[in-house]
Amino acid sequence: MLVRTSDVYMTTTTVVAAGSRCLLIDPALLPGELAALEEELADLGLAVEAAVSTHPHWDHVLWSAGLGDAPRFTSARAIETLEQRRGPMVDDQLVEASRRWYASWDMPLAGRLTAAPAGGLLPWSGPAARLVVHDGHAPGHAAVHLPELGVLAAGDMLSDVEIPGLDWDEPDALGAYQDGLQALGELAGVRLVIPGHGRPGDSAAWRDRLQADRHYLEALAAGDPVVDPRLDGWPPMRQQHHANLEAIQRRPRSVRD
Ligand SMILES: [Zn+2]
Repeated sequence: MLVRTSDVYMTTTTVVAAGSRCLLIDPALLPGELAALEEELADLGLAVEAAVSTHPHWDHVLWSAGLGDAPRFTSARAIETLEQRRGPMVDDQLVEASRRWYASWDMPLAGRLTAAPAGGLLPWSGPAARLVVHDGHAPGHAAVHLPELGVLAAGDMLSDVEIPGLDWDEPDALGAYQDGLQALGELAGVRLVIPGHGRPGDSAAWRDRLQADRHYLEALAAGDPVVDPRLDGWPPMRQQHHANLEAIQRRPRSVRD
């Protein structure tokens, strides 16, 4: 396993190596970082056999030509979402990011994804890797679970630096997020959790983050003050929290138990 962390948003890239091949999860983020990843994989003698984009947000569907033309899997619902909203979700975001950082991505390669087989088991020659598909952060968000390794690449869930980012386009945004946490919490033998933004953690971190996210959602739903160190850990989190508060005030408060 290799985890590399971008200078932007602490975005992680996860590589699962098996012999001379690898599974590449959410390659990110700046063009120079993708180029460095290409070089590192080449130095290690690793060819990308398959890839995963955990969800249809622009920072998780990036690619560069040098990574090759392996199939890039995601969930069927994520594919549907990209078919309907590729412009606002990926293309427009990339144009804006290009302007912000004077950066130039291989735009036509962004978000060119394939639906994973039903059941979510990824076709590749390494350790079993299965998509755990749920909604809540984005439609058809797909964490990657590698049970033999005890690894969970959690996408934009279970972060030590980010509070929950809810998909308020979901009719039951809170319920969908809670269902997602439940699906991730039911996995057996997680020894390494890798969030899409933040630091990898062990099984205790996996449980702590599940708990922290549940507490955050409960407080949000109840209208209680939120006590969460992540709010002060990274400036945009206050902003995201206010966005969550505003959104929930516009919506009925329902929490599933
Ligand atoms: Zn996201």
